[in-house]
Amino acid sequence: MTVLHAVEEGVGRDELERIVAVWQQRLRLGHWQIRIDWDTPSDHHADIKPWSVYDYATLRFNSAAPTWSPLIANRNIVHELLHLALRDVDYAVETAELVMAANTYKLFEAAVDNASEAAIDRLATVLVHLAGPA
Ligand SMILES: [Zn+2]
Repeated sequence: MTVLHAVEEGVGRDELERIVAVWQQRLRLGHWQIRIDWDTPSDHHADIKPWSVYDYATLRFNSAAPTWSPLIANRNIVHELLHLALRDVDYAVETAELVMAANTYKLFEAAVDNASEAAIDRLATVLVHLAGPA
């Protein structure tokens, strides 16, 4: 008799892509063309880079991403998509580089990055909690 074991393997690539598509709609980011780059793993959990043309972006995951639990996958994906939602804020911050001394801008940019990462992370957690995992 063969016993089949259900192995906890994480969400997998197909599920990550499905979660991205669901949250893209939930966050009203459906007009974005998001390319997932599976060939170049992120050094972080994930990262997202908007292109210079509106509204395209490349999303990359850490190589461990397919092993994430559904909850962690949802939180990390919502986190990255919120960066897209705030893309124009990032552009606005970057305009300060034109008028600030280099050292001042460096401090300003680091402070803004730190504050926005913290806010985005809290929002991602709350959104997944309120809406439920995709
Ligand atoms: Zn982030």
